[in-house]
Amino acid sequence: MSEKFTGSFTQQEPICQAGIDAAIRVMRHGRLHRYNTVADEISETAALEEEFAAFTGAKYCLAVASGGYALGCGLRAVGVGPGDTVLTNAFTLAPVPGAIAAIGAKPVFVEVTEALTIDLDDLAGKIARSGARALLLSHMRGHICDMDRLMAICTAAGLPVIEDCAHTMGASWRGTPSGRHGVVGCYSTQTYKHMNSGEGGLMVSDDPELMARAIILSGSYMLYARHRAAPPSEAFEKVKYVTPNVSGRMDNLRAAILRPQLADLPAQCARWNALYRTLERCLADTPGLRLVDRPQEEAYVASSFQFLLPDWPAERVAAFLSRSAARGVELKWFGGAEPVGFTSRHDSWRYAAAQDLPQTDRILCGLIDMRLPLTFSPDDVALIARIIRAEVSAAFQGGAEPVDRLPLAD
Ligand SMILES: *Cc1c(COP(=O)(O)O)cnc(C)c1O
Repeated sequence: MSEKFTGSFTQQEPICQAGIDAAIRVMRHGRLHRYNTVADEISETAALEEEFAAFTGAKYCLAVASGGYALGCGLRAVGVGPGDTVLTNAFTLAPVPGAIAAIGAKPVFVEVTEALTIDLDDLAGKIARSGARALLLSHMRGHICDMDRLMAICTAAGLPVIEDCAHTMGASWRGTPSGRHGVVGCYSTQTYKHMNSGEGGLMVSDDPELMARAIILSGSYMLYARHRAAPPSEAFEKVKYVTPNVSGRMDNLRAAILRPQLADLPAQCARWNALYRTLERCLADTPGLRLVDRPQEEAYVASSFQFLLPDWPAERVAAFLSRSAARGVELKWFGGAEPVGFTSRHDSWRYAAAQDLPQTDRILCGLIDMRLPLTFSPDDVALIARIIRAEVSAAFQGGAEPVDRLPLAD
């Protein structure tokens, strides 16, 4: 009899009691808007910004409505405008090219490597050829490229780097927190990320003028003096009359839920990594399956797991996915003909010009992705690994026996 997994790949942990208590306090006093404060009150949002700036070692921090908003605000704040070209990863999620398109700019995609990071040779070539105004670097699925080399390439070209750290909150490269290499780091606190406020985002930077622009953009009216992780008021003088208000503030309810989660984040990251290492260990040396290399310099936060089925024919991958799904293991495939849930690809983003990305297409054809919520125990993860191992072996060795395609659940 074959084992089955019955847990949910989309169930996060409940909000911690301290977060629930803080949220109730905000609801009781009713001042949910970040600028609605009494006398000397420090709003939850301003306190969160101060704490997140300290967590990342940044001078300034701004809390916003979503990770996608943070990306768009970051692009605008570095001066990207309509018609500009912005380089970004070909392997990323839809909000990334979406943020570029939303300000009327044009995404140009850079190939992915088998380490699932941006291809730095392709990047260097495309910087020279595309006349790009910025790089929106997505640390997709928490895989961090050689940041020393990337920054050397971009600095030499005078290209500002905006980091999408939706999957790297709490991670670092050679000791520098993810989000602190580029000119601005953007994070998401949406439910599936490393802290959960339903929706939400954070931005960090050391650049006073950039951050002043971001704060005005987010909808601060002229109340920026109430921030505690903002640049001094001189920084606002140059920008306050010429920067539009594109409202996207965070509110005190979300900030209240997030502050205790930030205090717990390092411990949560350690739990994710323990689950990840269990999976890695259990799947090592499975014929037909390739694990993704993790460089020494990278301190990752593995809230998801990826592996490659290199050069497998599509029917065989589909058969493997259906058989795993039938045993309760919900895997996503970035190589399917149609996007399912979040697995859209560059060729699904048809508002952008069609682009030739043969290396990315080949890698995504064999790329399998799995969420690792903290509601999974180490035993759950070991069971999942046994199922994957057995089904990869069956599909790899047994060849493509015809299996009806089960609908792949979202
Ligand atoms: C979730 C996500 C975002 C955007 O975050 P939202 O808060 O959902 O807008 C950006 N980039 C990546 C890679 C993401 O996964």
